Amino acid sequence: MQAQTALITGSTSGIGLGIAEALAASGRAVALNGRSDTPENHALASAMSARHGVAVVYLAADISEGDLARALVARAADALGRLDILVNNAGVQHVAPVEEFPVAKWDHILALNLSSAFHTSAAAIPLMKANGFGRIINVSSAHGLTASPYKSAYVSAKHGLVGLTKTVALEMAETRLDLTCNAICPGYVLTPLVENQIADQMKVHKMSREEVLEKVMLQRQPTRKMASVEDLGALAVFLASPAASQITGAALPVDGGWTAL
Ligand code: NAD
Repeated sequence: MQAQTALITGSTSGIGLGIAEALAASGRAVALNGRSDTPENHALASAMSARHGVAVVYLAADISEGDLARALVARAADALGRLDILVNNAGVQHVAPVEEFPVAKWDHILALNLSSAFHTSAAAIPLMKANGFGRIINVSSAHGLTASPYKSAYVSAKHGLVGLTKTVALEMAETRLDLTCNAICPGYVLTPLVENQIADQMKVHKMSREEVLEKVMLQRQPTRKMASVEDLGALAVFLASPAASQITGAALPVDGGWTAL
Protein backbone atom coordinates (compact mmCIF):
# COMPACT_ATOMS: atom_id res chain seq x y z
CA MET A 1 0.00 0.00 0.00
CA GLN A 2 1.15 3.56 -0.78
CA ALA A 3 2.50 5.40 2.27
CA GLN A 4 0.16 7.87 3.93
CA THR A 5 0.68 11.57 3.38
CA ALA A 6 0.16 14.69 5.48
CA LEU A 7 -0.13 18.44 4.88
CA ILE A 8 0.69 20.63 7.87
CA THR A 9 -0.05 24.35 7.50
CA GLY A 10 2.35 26.81 9.13
CA SER A 11 5.03 24.18 9.61
CA THR A 12 8.30 26.12 9.24
CA SER A 13 8.68 26.47 13.02
CA GLY A 14 7.22 25.65 16.42
CA ILE A 15 4.29 23.30 16.81
CA GLY A 16 3.66 22.77 13.09
CA LEU A 17 7.27 21.78 12.52
CA GLY A 18 7.14 19.44 15.56
CA ILE A 19 4.00 17.74 14.27
CA ALA A 20 5.49 17.45 10.76
CA GLU A 21 8.66 15.91 12.21
CA ALA A 22 6.65 13.33 14.19
CA LEU A 23 4.47 12.43 11.18
CA ALA A 24 7.57 12.06 8.97
CA ALA A 25 9.28 9.94 11.66
CA SER A 26 6.20 7.68 11.66
CA GLY A 27 6.67 7.06 7.91
CA ARG A 28 4.27 9.58 6.39
CA ALA A 29 5.25 11.66 3.37
CA VAL A 30 4.86 15.28 4.35
CA ALA A 31 4.06 18.67 2.79
CA LEU A 32 5.40 21.59 4.82
CA ASN A 33 3.89 25.06 4.41
CA GLY A 34 4.78 28.63 5.27
CA ARG A 35 4.01 32.02 3.83
CA SER A 36 7.30 32.74 2.06
CA ASP A 37 9.23 30.85 -0.60
CA THR A 38 12.77 30.88 0.80
CA PRO A 39 15.73 28.52 0.22
CA GLU A 40 15.79 27.95 4.01
CA ASN A 41 12.26 26.55 3.94
CA HIS A 42 13.09 24.18 1.06
CA ALA A 43 16.23 23.14 2.95
CA LEU A 44 14.07 22.34 5.98
CA ALA A 45 12.08 19.93 3.80
CA SER A 46 15.23 18.29 2.32
CA ALA A 47 16.76 17.78 5.76
CA MET A 48 13.55 16.25 7.14
CA SER A 49 13.34 13.95 4.13
CA ALA A 50 16.95 12.81 4.67
CA ARG A 51 16.38 12.25 8.42
CA HIS A 52 13.34 10.03 7.98
CA GLY A 53 13.64 8.54 4.47
CA VAL A 54 10.24 9.84 3.37
CA ALA A 55 9.23 12.40 0.73
CA VAL A 56 9.01 15.91 2.17
CA VAL A 57 8.08 18.94 0.05
CA TYR A 58 7.82 22.59 0.95
CA LEU A 59 4.86 24.51 -0.50
CA ALA A 60 4.73 28.27 0.02
CA ALA A 61 1.26 29.80 0.32
CA ASP A 62 -0.28 32.65 2.28
CA ILE A 63 -3.27 30.69 3.54
CA SER A 64 -4.97 33.76 5.00
CA GLU A 65 -6.26 33.99 1.41
CA GLY A 66 -9.00 31.42 0.92
CA ASP A 67 -8.22 30.61 -2.71
CA LEU A 68 -4.56 30.00 -1.89
CA ALA A 69 -5.51 27.80 1.09
CA ARG A 70 -7.74 25.66 -1.13
CA ALA A 71 -5.09 25.51 -3.86
CA LEU A 72 -2.49 24.43 -1.26
CA VAL A 73 -4.46 21.24 -0.58
CA ALA A 74 -4.55 20.41 -4.30
CA ARG A 75 -0.83 21.14 -4.62
CA ALA A 76 -0.01 18.87 -1.66
CA ALA A 77 -2.13 16.03 -3.04
CA ASP A 78 -0.45 16.46 -6.46
CA ALA A 79 3.07 16.55 -4.99
CA LEU A 80 2.57 13.57 -2.65
CA GLY A 81 0.14 11.51 -4.75
CA ARG A 82 -2.74 11.57 -2.22
CA LEU A 83 -3.81 13.31 0.99
CA ASP A 84 -4.63 11.39 4.17
CA ILE A 85 -3.90 13.81 7.00
CA LEU A 86 -4.51 17.57 7.16
CA VAL A 87 -3.16 19.52 10.13
CA ASN A 88 -4.52 23.06 10.32
CA ASN A 89 -1.86 24.68 12.47
CA ALA A 90 -0.94 28.15 11.11
CA GLY A 91 -1.88 30.93 13.49
CA VAL A 92 -0.87 34.33 14.82
CA GLN A 93 -1.73 36.39 17.87
CA HIS A 94 -2.27 40.08 18.72
CA VAL A 95 -3.00 41.56 22.12
CA ALA A 96 -5.07 44.76 22.62
CA PRO A 97 -8.32 45.83 24.34
CA VAL A 98 -11.41 45.30 22.17
CA GLU A 99 -12.04 49.03 21.70
CA GLU A 100 -8.46 49.56 20.47
CA PHE A 101 -8.09 46.30 18.54
CA PRO A 102 -6.91 47.19 15.00
CA VAL A 103 -9.56 46.11 12.48
CA ALA A 104 -6.92 44.83 10.06
CA LYS A 105 -5.44 42.61 12.82
CA TRP A 106 -8.91 41.27 13.70
CA ASP A 107 -9.59 40.43 10.04
CA HIS A 108 -6.18 38.79 9.56
CA ILE A 109 -6.39 36.67 12.72
CA LEU A 110 -9.88 35.44 11.82
CA ALA A 111 -8.73 34.72 8.23
CA LEU A 112 -5.57 32.84 9.22
CA ASN A 113 -6.56 31.14 12.50
CA LEU A 114 -10.12 30.16 11.50
CA SER A 115 -11.16 30.67 7.88
CA SER A 116 -8.04 28.98 6.46
CA ALA A 117 -9.11 25.74 8.19
CA PHE A 118 -12.58 26.04 6.62
CA HIS A 119 -11.01 26.42 3.18
CA THR A 120 -8.41 23.63 3.52
CA SER A 121 -10.99 21.26 5.04
CA ALA A 122 -13.46 21.99 2.24
CA ALA A 123 -10.76 21.15 -0.31
CA ALA A 124 -9.47 18.07 1.54
CA ILE A 125 -12.72 16.31 2.48
CA PRO A 126 -13.62 15.22 -1.09
CA LEU A 127 -10.11 13.71 -1.47
CA MET A 128 -10.45 11.92 1.88
CA LYS A 129 -13.91 10.61 1.01
CA ALA A 130 -12.56 9.23 -2.28
CA ASN A 131 -9.79 7.42 -0.35
CA GLY A 132 -12.16 6.18 2.39
CA PHE A 133 -9.73 7.48 5.01
CA GLY A 134 -8.94 10.90 6.40
CA ARG A 135 -7.78 12.71 9.49
CA ILE A 136 -8.19 16.44 10.06
CA ILE A 137 -6.37 17.80 13.12
CA ASN A 138 -6.98 21.44 14.02
CA VAL A 139 -4.49 23.15 16.30
CA SER A 140 -6.76 25.29 18.48
CA SER A 141 -5.67 26.40 21.95
CA ALA A 142 -6.66 26.47 25.61
CA HIS A 143 -8.05 29.78 24.32
CA GLY A 144 -10.46 27.71 22.23
CA LEU A 145 -12.07 26.59 25.49
CA THR A 146 -11.56 29.57 27.79
CA ALA A 147 -10.73 33.28 27.43
CA SER A 148 -8.15 35.86 28.49
CA PRO A 149 -8.56 39.62 28.33
CA TYR A 150 -7.08 41.51 25.36
CA LYS A 151 -7.09 38.47 23.06
CA SER A 152 -10.53 38.96 21.46
CA ALA A 153 -9.60 37.94 17.92
CA TYR A 154 -7.45 34.98 18.98
CA VAL A 155 -10.02 33.66 21.48
CA SER A 156 -12.86 34.12 18.98
CA ALA A 157 -10.95 32.37 16.20
CA LYS A 158 -9.82 29.49 18.43
CA HIS A 159 -13.36 28.97 19.83
CA GLY A 160 -14.60 29.08 16.25
CA LEU A 161 -12.06 26.44 15.27
CA VAL A 162 -13.44 24.11 17.97
CA GLY A 163 -16.94 24.69 16.54
CA LEU A 164 -15.71 23.99 13.01
CA THR A 165 -14.04 20.80 14.30
CA LYS A 166 -17.31 19.49 15.77
CA THR A 167 -19.32 20.32 12.64
CA VAL A 168 -16.81 18.75 10.26
CA ALA A 169 -16.61 15.65 12.52
CA LEU A 170 -20.41 15.20 12.37
CA GLU A 171 -20.46 15.60 8.60
CA MET A 172 -17.57 13.13 8.25
CA ALA A 173 -19.33 10.61 10.54
CA GLU A 174 -22.35 10.56 8.21
CA THR A 175 -20.15 9.06 5.49
CA ARG A 176 -19.54 5.92 7.65
CA LEU A 177 -15.96 6.03 6.31
CA ASP A 178 -12.81 6.19 8.47
CA LEU A 179 -12.79 9.99 8.58
CA THR A 180 -12.22 11.99 11.78
CA CYS A 181 -11.74 15.61 12.75
CA ASN A 182 -10.37 16.70 16.12
CA ALA A 183 -8.89 19.77 17.75
CA ILE A 184 -5.77 19.88 19.91
CA CYS A 185 -5.98 22.64 22.54
CA PRO A 186 -2.50 23.44 23.89
CA GLY A 187 -1.78 25.70 26.81
CA TYR A 188 1.76 27.06 26.75
CA VAL A 189 4.09 25.08 24.48
CA LEU A 190 7.84 25.59 24.49
CA THR A 191 8.48 26.98 20.99
CA PRO A 192 11.12 29.50 19.83
CA LEU A 193 8.43 32.21 20.07
CA VAL A 194 7.67 31.33 23.68
CA GLU A 195 11.41 31.08 24.48
CA ASN A 196 11.67 34.74 23.38
CA GLN A 197 8.71 35.65 25.61
CA ILE A 198 10.45 34.00 28.57
CA ALA A 199 13.61 35.99 27.88
CA ASP A 200 11.60 39.24 27.62
CA GLN A 201 9.75 38.56 30.88
CA MET A 202 13.05 37.76 32.66
CA LYS A 203 14.27 41.24 31.72
CA VAL A 204 11.01 43.05 32.56
CA HIS A 205 10.59 41.39 35.97
CA LYS A 206 14.30 40.95 36.75
CA MET A 207 13.57 37.31 37.55
CA SER A 208 15.27 34.00 36.81
CA ARG A 209 13.82 31.72 34.14
CA GLU A 210 12.34 29.46 36.85
CA GLU A 211 10.71 32.42 38.63
CA VAL A 212 9.24 33.78 35.39
CA LEU A 213 7.74 30.38 34.57
CA GLU A 214 6.39 29.75 38.09
CA LYS A 215 5.17 33.23 38.98
CA VAL A 216 4.36 34.95 35.68
CA MET A 217 3.83 32.84 32.59
CA LEU A 218 2.48 29.54 33.94
CA GLN A 219 0.15 30.88 36.60
CA ARG A 220 -2.86 29.45 34.74
CA GLN A 221 -1.12 26.15 33.93
CA PRO A 222 -1.41 24.16 37.19
CA THR A 223 1.47 21.75 36.46
CA ARG A 224 3.69 24.86 36.00
CA LYS A 225 5.26 23.04 33.06
CA MET A 226 4.94 23.66 29.32
CA ALA A 227 4.11 20.96 26.81
CA SER A 228 6.77 20.29 24.17
CA VAL A 229 6.32 20.21 20.41
CA GLU A 230 7.25 16.51 20.66
CA ASP A 231 4.25 15.96 23.00
CA LEU A 232 1.97 17.50 20.39
CA GLY A 233 3.62 15.54 17.60
CA ALA A 234 2.99 12.28 19.46
CA LEU A 235 -0.67 13.21 19.96
CA ALA A 236 -1.07 14.02 16.25
CA VAL A 237 0.49 10.66 15.31
CA PHE A 238 -1.95 8.92 17.66
CA LEU A 239 -4.96 10.82 16.28
CA ALA A 240 -3.87 9.83 12.77
CA SER A 241 -3.68 6.13 13.74
CA PRO A 242 -6.41 3.47 13.33
CA ALA A 243 -6.68 3.28 17.16
CA ALA A 244 -8.15 6.80 17.16
CA SER A 245 -10.90 6.08 14.63
CA GLN A 246 -13.62 6.55 17.28
CA ILE A 247 -12.21 9.82 18.58
CA THR A 248 -13.91 12.53 16.56
CA GLY A 249 -15.30 15.99 17.25
CA ALA A 250 -13.12 16.19 20.35
CA ALA A 251 -11.25 19.23 21.65
CA LEU A 252 -8.30 17.70 23.49
CA PRO A 253 -6.56 19.96 26.03
CA VAL A 254 -2.79 19.64 26.36
CA ASP A 255 -2.60 22.38 28.92
CA GLY A 256 -1.25 21.05 32.23
CA GLY A 257 -4.73 21.38 33.76
CA TRP A 258 -5.42 25.00 32.68
CA THR A 259 -8.98 24.28 31.52
CA ALA A 260 -9.68 22.02 34.52
CA LEU A 261 -9.51 25.00 36.86
P1 NAD B 1 5.06 29.86 15.19
O1 NAD B 1 5.04 31.34 15.02
O2 NAD B 1 6.33 29.19 15.63
O3 NAD B 1 4.59 29.17 13.84
C1 NAD B 1 3.57 29.71 13.05
C2 NAD B 1 3.67 29.13 11.66
O4 NAD B 1 2.64 29.72 10.85
C3 NAD B 1 5.00 29.43 10.95
O5 NAD B 1 5.38 28.30 10.23
C4 NAD B 1 4.63 30.56 9.97
O6 NAD B 1 5.44 30.55 8.82
C5 NAD B 1 3.21 30.16 9.63
N1 NAD B 1 2.41 31.26 9.09
C6 NAD B 1 2.23 32.50 9.59
N2 NAD B 1 1.44 33.22 8.77
C7 NAD B 1 1.12 32.39 7.74
C8 NAD B 1 0.34 32.55 6.55
N3 NAD B 1 -0.30 33.70 6.29
N4 NAD B 1 0.23 31.50 5.70
C9 NAD B 1 0.88 30.33 5.96
N5 NAD B 1 1.62 30.13 7.06
C10 NAD B 1 1.74 31.15 7.93
O7 NAD B 1 3.85 29.54 16.18
P2 NAD B 1 3.54 28.30 17.16
O8 NAD B 1 3.72 28.78 18.54
O9 NAD B 1 4.20 27.05 16.72
O10 NAD B 1 1.95 28.17 16.92
C11 NAD B 1 1.39 27.27 15.99
C12 NAD B 1 -0.10 27.13 16.29
O11 NAD B 1 -0.28 26.67 17.62
C13 NAD B 1 -0.87 28.45 16.16
O12 NAD B 1 -2.13 28.20 15.60
C14 NAD B 1 -1.02 28.88 17.62
O13 NAD B 1 -2.13 29.69 17.83
C15 NAD B 1 -1.15 27.53 18.30
N6 NAD B 1 -0.82 27.55 19.74
C16 NAD B 1 0.45 27.84 20.17
C17 NAD B 1 0.72 27.81 21.54
C18 NAD B 1 2.12 28.07 22.07
O14 NAD B 1 2.29 28.14 23.30
N7 NAD B 1 3.14 28.18 21.24
C19 NAD B 1 -0.29 27.51 22.44
C20 NAD B 1 -1.57 27.24 21.96
C21 NAD B 1 -1.84 27.25 20.60
